[in-house]
Amino acid sequence: MLWRPATYGEQAFLHIYESIGRHLSVQHPSDSSLDFLVNERSFQEFARLHATIEVFIRCMRAAVFLQNEIGHLPAPEHGRQLAKRDYVSLRLASDRRFCELIKRTARISFEARAASSPLAKEIKEATAGCYLCGIALTKAGPPHSRSTVEHLWPLSLGGESIEENLIAACQDCNTKRENSITWAWGPVQSTDYRHDPTKNANVQLRISLAMAKLMLEASGESTGRRSTLKEAALRISPLFPNLIIKDGRHRVYFELFDEMRKAG
Ligand SMILES: [Zn+2]
Repeated sequence: MLWRPATYGEQAFLHIYESIGRHLSVQHPSDSSLDFLVNERSFQEFARLHATIEVFIRCMRAAVFLQNEIGHLPAPEHGRQLAKRDYVSLRLASDRRFCELIKRTARISFEARAASSPLAKEIKEATAGCYLCGIALTKAGPPHSRSTVEHLWPLSLGGESIEENLIAACQDCNTKRENSITWAWGPVQSTDYRHDPTKNANVQLRISLAMAKLMLEASGESTGRRSTLKEAALRISPLFPNLIIKDGRHRVYFELFDEMRKAG
């Protein structure tokens, strides 16, 4: 398990990672190498996470779409119905725990219950700065300072509106993060990064690197201590990487990922 889950959506994602993604191995032919672009370890991790995302999103979206039709069925039958329509493999559909988690995750996403007003107020008041960019948060003002409540695991992907999954973020970061759940979406979005933020229109890439920092911290890679996403976020926020690129040369995503991993 990569990190300690706080929501059903994370449990479903991590269950798929454990039963499918983690076992994926990408062949590295000896006569050609991607070393000039990405080291083997980062590429293996990317492939495993990305395969997990694909399976997770596919069965989640299908289950939400079919909620009115199959949402009332017991979990094993719910899973069988997804398999019958080719949204999940028969092997996954025969995994009872997977069926329970997908059913619960789909319901949370379908119902989309926002945080209660008192809880939202409490979350906004708990921290002074945005967990991603670090800007001081205000009640009113421009989007890049206005306080909002962010779901660390998106509500649309089964992240409940509970204290363990909520954190304060500026409106700008909250909107631009959308449903990014791991750093593995970043390399697909862009392979180019300009260090100067005024020239870097692609905030999604900075958010993806921030997700990488969050996952590495929560998985205890450097500390040996596995934690929830929120515990990790509170320990190391703001999450936007502060990479010093003195030569001004553009970097591809995986070079930045390696530099950020070394920076700790
Ligand atoms: Zn922000």
